[in-house]
Amino acid sequence: MLDGCIFCKISSGEIKVDMLYEDDSIVAFRDIDPQAPQHILVIPKEHIPTLDDVSPEDAGLLGHMLLKARDIASKLGMDKGYRIVVNCNSDGGQEVFHIHVHLLGGRQMKWPPG
Ligand code: 5GP
Ligand code: ZN
Repeated sequence: MLDGCIFCKISSGEIKVDMLYEDDSIVAFRDIDPQAPQHILVIPKEHIPTLDDVSPEDAGLLGHMLLKARDIASKLGMDKGYRIVVNCNSDGGQEVFHIHVHLLGGRQMKWPPG
Protein backbone atom coordinates (compact mmCIF):
# COMPACT_ATOMS: atom_id res chain seq x y z
CA MET A 1 0.00 0.00 0.00
CA LEU A 2 1.49 3.27 -1.13
CA ASP A 3 0.07 6.47 0.38
CA GLY A 4 -1.73 8.50 -2.25
CA CYS A 5 -1.89 5.70 -4.83
CA ILE A 6 -5.41 5.55 -6.27
CA PHE A 7 -5.12 1.87 -7.25
CA CYS A 8 -3.88 0.90 -3.77
CA LYS A 9 -6.97 2.65 -2.41
CA ILE A 10 -9.18 0.71 -4.83
CA SER A 11 -7.55 -2.69 -4.17
CA SER A 12 -7.74 -2.19 -0.40
CA GLY A 13 -11.42 -1.21 -0.59
CA GLU A 14 -10.77 2.34 0.69
CA ILE A 15 -12.32 3.60 -2.57
CA LYS A 16 -15.37 1.62 -3.64
CA VAL A 17 -15.62 0.50 -7.26
CA ASP A 18 -17.71 -2.02 -9.15
CA MET A 19 -15.44 -5.04 -8.51
CA LEU A 20 -15.61 -7.69 -11.24
CA TYR A 21 -13.16 -10.04 -9.56
CA GLU A 22 -11.10 -10.20 -6.38
CA ASP A 23 -8.82 -12.74 -4.75
CA ASP A 24 -5.83 -12.63 -2.39
CA SER A 25 -3.46 -11.11 -4.93
CA ILE A 26 -5.41 -9.21 -7.61
CA VAL A 27 -8.58 -7.23 -8.30
CA ALA A 28 -10.43 -6.37 -11.53
CA PHE A 29 -12.78 -3.44 -12.06
CA ARG A 30 -14.12 -1.22 -14.85
CA ASP A 31 -12.04 1.70 -16.11
CA ILE A 32 -13.55 5.06 -15.15
CA ASP A 33 -12.94 6.40 -18.69
CA PRO A 34 -13.67 3.46 -20.99
CA GLN A 35 -11.95 3.41 -24.39
CA ALA A 36 -14.10 0.55 -25.67
CA PRO A 37 -17.55 -0.89 -24.85
CA GLN A 38 -15.75 -3.17 -22.40
CA HIS A 39 -12.71 -1.72 -20.61
CA ILE A 40 -11.52 -3.51 -17.50
CA LEU A 41 -8.39 -3.06 -15.40
CA VAL A 42 -6.68 -5.98 -13.65
CA ILE A 43 -4.24 -4.91 -10.93
CA PRO A 44 -2.20 -6.60 -8.22
CA LYS A 45 -2.97 -5.75 -4.60
CA GLU A 46 0.77 -5.27 -4.10
CA HIS A 47 2.01 -1.84 -5.14
CA ILE A 48 4.35 -2.37 -8.11
CA PRO A 49 4.76 0.88 -10.09
CA THR A 50 5.56 -0.34 -13.62
CA LEU A 51 6.48 -3.40 -15.65
CA ASP A 52 10.10 -2.28 -15.27
CA ASP A 53 9.79 -2.83 -11.50
CA VAL A 54 8.58 -6.42 -11.75
CA SER A 55 11.05 -9.00 -10.43
CA PRO A 56 11.36 -12.63 -11.58
CA GLU A 57 9.50 -13.73 -8.42
CA ASP A 58 6.48 -11.76 -9.68
CA ALA A 59 6.24 -13.80 -12.89
CA GLY A 60 3.45 -15.92 -11.44
CA LEU A 61 1.53 -12.83 -10.38
CA LEU A 62 1.79 -11.34 -13.88
CA GLY A 63 0.67 -14.61 -15.42
CA HIS A 64 -2.26 -14.72 -13.02
CA MET A 65 -3.29 -11.19 -14.06
CA LEU A 66 -3.16 -12.13 -17.75
CA LEU A 67 -5.08 -15.36 -17.35
CA LYS A 68 -7.71 -13.65 -15.22
CA ALA A 69 -8.09 -10.95 -17.90
CA ARG A 70 -8.64 -13.77 -20.42
CA ASP A 71 -11.26 -15.37 -18.16
CA ILE A 72 -13.08 -12.05 -17.68
CA ALA A 73 -13.07 -11.53 -21.48
CA SER A 74 -14.70 -14.91 -21.86
CA LYS A 75 -17.21 -14.22 -19.08
CA LEU A 76 -18.17 -10.88 -20.67
CA GLY A 77 -18.75 -12.54 -24.04
CA MET A 78 -15.76 -11.23 -25.97
CA ASP A 79 -15.79 -14.33 -28.12
CA LYS A 80 -14.66 -12.40 -31.24
CA GLY A 81 -11.50 -11.21 -29.48
CA TYR A 82 -10.12 -8.51 -27.27
CA ARG A 83 -6.96 -6.56 -26.58
CA ILE A 84 -4.61 -6.66 -23.61
CA VAL A 85 -2.47 -3.55 -23.00
CA VAL A 86 0.21 -2.80 -20.43
CA ASN A 87 1.44 0.79 -20.72
CA CYS A 88 4.92 1.29 -19.25
CA ASN A 89 6.29 4.66 -18.15
CA SER A 90 5.91 7.99 -19.95
CA ASP A 91 6.58 6.98 -23.57
CA GLY A 92 4.23 4.04 -23.03
CA GLY A 93 1.48 6.43 -21.96
CA GLN A 94 1.25 5.17 -18.38
CA GLU A 95 -0.67 7.58 -16.15
CA VAL A 96 -1.28 5.54 -13.01
CA PHE A 97 1.95 4.21 -11.56
CA HIS A 98 0.55 1.02 -10.04
CA ILE A 99 0.96 -1.70 -12.65
CA HIS A 100 -2.24 -2.75 -14.42
CA VAL A 101 -3.43 -4.80 -17.36
CA HIS A 102 -6.04 -3.16 -19.60
CA LEU A 103 -8.63 -5.51 -21.09
CA LEU A 104 -10.43 -3.86 -24.01
CA GLY A 105 -13.20 -5.40 -26.08
CA GLY A 106 -16.60 -5.10 -27.66
CA ARG A 107 -15.39 -3.38 -30.83
CA GLN A 108 -12.90 -3.88 -33.66
CA MET A 109 -9.44 -2.72 -32.52
CA LYS A 110 -7.07 -0.89 -34.87
CA TRP A 111 -3.38 -1.43 -35.44
CA PRO A 112 -1.01 0.21 -34.78
CA PRO A 113 -2.33 1.80 -31.58
CA GLY A 114 -1.69 5.53 -31.25
P1 5GP B 1 -2.62 4.04 -17.85
O1 5GP B 1 -2.65 5.21 -18.79
O2 5GP B 1 -1.84 4.34 -16.60
O3 5GP B 1 -2.18 2.76 -18.52
O4 5GP B 1 -4.11 3.77 -17.46
C1 5GP B 1 -4.70 4.22 -16.28
C2 5GP B 1 -6.18 3.98 -16.42
O5 5GP B 1 -6.77 4.10 -15.15
C3 5GP B 1 -6.88 4.96 -17.35
O6 5GP B 1 -7.52 4.24 -18.39
C4 5GP B 1 -7.86 5.68 -16.44
O7 5GP B 1 -9.08 5.97 -17.07
C5 5GP B 1 -8.03 4.71 -15.29
N1 5GP B 1 -8.33 5.32 -14.00
C6 5GP B 1 -7.68 6.37 -13.44
N2 5GP B 1 -8.21 6.66 -12.24
C7 5GP B 1 -9.23 5.77 -12.05
C8 5GP B 1 -10.16 5.59 -10.99
O8 5GP B 1 -10.17 6.29 -9.98
N3 5GP B 1 -11.08 4.58 -11.13
C9 5GP B 1 -11.09 3.77 -12.23
N4 5GP B 1 -12.02 2.80 -12.27
N5 5GP B 1 -10.21 3.92 -13.25
C10 5GP B 1 -9.30 4.92 -13.16
ZN1 ZN C 1 -0.48 1.38 -5.59
